Amino acid sequence: MKNALVINPYITDFKLYDEWMHPLGLYFLIDTLMRQGFSVEYFNCQSRILTRKYGTGCLAFKELPKPHLYHHISRKYKQYGIEETEFKRYLQNITKPDLICVGSMMTYWAPGVLRTVDIIREIFPDVPLAIGGIAARLIPEYFQKNLRNIFINEIPGFNDFLKTDQYLNKEQITLLPGLKTVKNPLPHGPLLLSVGCPMRCTYCASSVLQPRYYKRSLQIVLNELDYMVNSLGIQDFAFYDDALLISKDEVLLPFLKEINLRKYKLRFHTPNGLHLRYLTADLCEKIFEAGFKTLRFGYESGSVRYKKDTNSKLSLSELEKNIELIKKNAPADLDIGIYVMGGLEGQTPQQLLDEMDYLGSLDIKVKPVFISPVPQTVLYQHYAEKFPEIMTDPLWHNDTFFITCLPGWNLESIEAVRIKARELNSSVQQRIISNRELQDI
Ligand code: SF4
Repeated sequence: MKNALVINPYITDFKLYDEWMHPLGLYFLIDTLMRQGFSVEYFNCQSRILTRKYGTGCLAFKELPKPHLYHHISRKYKQYGIEETEFKRYLQNITKPDLICVGSMMTYWAPGVLRTVDIIREIFPDVPLAIGGIAARLIPEYFQKNLRNIFINEIPGFNDFLKTDQYLNKEQITLLPGLKTVKNPLPHGPLLLSVGCPMRCTYCASSVLQPRYYKRSLQIVLNELDYMVNSLGIQDFAFYDDALLISKDEVLLPFLKEINLRKYKLRFHTPNGLHLRYLTADLCEKIFEAGFKTLRFGYESGSVRYKKDTNSKLSLSELEKNIELIKKNAPADLDIGIYVMGGLEGQTPQQLLDEMDYLGSLDIKVKPVFISPVPQTVLYQHYAEKFPEIMTDPLWHNDTFFITCLPGWNLESIEAVRIKARELNSSVQQRIISNRELQDI
C-alpha cells in the first residue's frame, strides 16, 4: 500500500488565535486519498500552548524578522507552529512517503507554506509534493513561480496527479478519516452541514472556491458528530458553513432535531457570520435548546452605499428587530457578536467608529474586521487598479497591512478602532460573566 503524508503548514501573520480552527480541506483530502488506496498520516505544524474558554486557545509561535513591506507596523510578525527542529525530527523518523500534500489557507500566509515546503525538501528532496487549499487555488501562479517540481492546485497536472476531482463525490465525502488520523485532537470539533454560499458579496471568494451551494448528507454529518462526541469526548463544536441559516428548514433544523433526540450536552459556536435576517422566534428557541453559546453575525456596514458590497445583508431596522428577538429568549450567558467591516471603498475611520458605537448601544459585542483584497473577487479587481502590487505579492493581502494603505487610514485611526472595540466589548463581557456566575449560584 502506498503512503501519503498530509501536512497542515506553518502560518505567518501578526496575529492568530485558535477560535475553533480546523483544516477541513485536509480532512476531506485524507478521505479522497484513502478512497484511492493510500495509507495516510497527518501532521499538524500548529500546536496549542494555552487553552481558554470553549476550547479556544493560543498557538505556539516564534517571532520573525518583519518583511520590509511591513516595516511601519509596530506589531510583532510571527511564524505560528512548532519548533522547526521538531518538524524536521518528525520527518527524519518516518518511513519515506510516496506522496506529500501540504494545505494552504489565507494568501498572505503563503510564506509559511513556502517555509514548510523548504523543510520537507531538506528531508525528502524527491518525493512528489502537492499544494492544495484556498491560497493555492486563489494564487496558483505565485506558488508556481516560487516552487519547483511541485503539483499546485489549479495548475494543469494537479488533478491528473491527485485525482481528487474523481473522488470528491461531494455529497459522500466525509471528515471522519481525517478526524481519525489526528494524533492530538483539539478540544473542539468542526461541523459542516452545507457547502458554499448563494450570496455574492464583492469581497468574498466563497463562490470562486465553491461555485455550487449544496447541503451535505445529514447522516454523514451525524456520523462525524457521534465520533467526536463519543470517541474524542468533544463538547464544543463550531459550524463552518458559509450560510448556515439559508435553507434552514432543510439544513439546520433537521440537524437540531437529531441533536435533541440524542440528548447530548454540547456547546455550539458560529465563528462564520450568520445572516441575521433569517432568524425567527422559532429558530431562536431551537438553537438555544440545542446549546448555542456563541453567535456571530455578518453585518459589515449599515451604510446604504456599501449595500452592494455586502449583498444587502441587513437594514438597520431588521438588525435591531432581530437582535431584540434573540435577546428576548436567550440564555443569560449567550455571547452575541457582530462583524463590522473597515476599509470599504471611501469609508472613513470616523464612519466605522460611529457604526461601532451604534452596534455597541445594542448591548452586543462589536467585531471590527479590516478588509483584505482576496484574489479573484470583485473588490480585488477594484483595488488592483489602485494597488497593482496586490497582483504579485500576497503580503499585500494582509488585513493588518492593507488597511494602512487606504486613504484616510493610518496607524492611529486603526488603534482607535481597536480601543473602541475593547471598550465596547468589555462591558458586554462583564455582563456575560456576571450572568454565568448568577447561574452557578
Ligand atoms: S461574505 Fe458570507 S454571505 Fe457574502 S458571499 Fe461570502 S459567505 Fe456568502
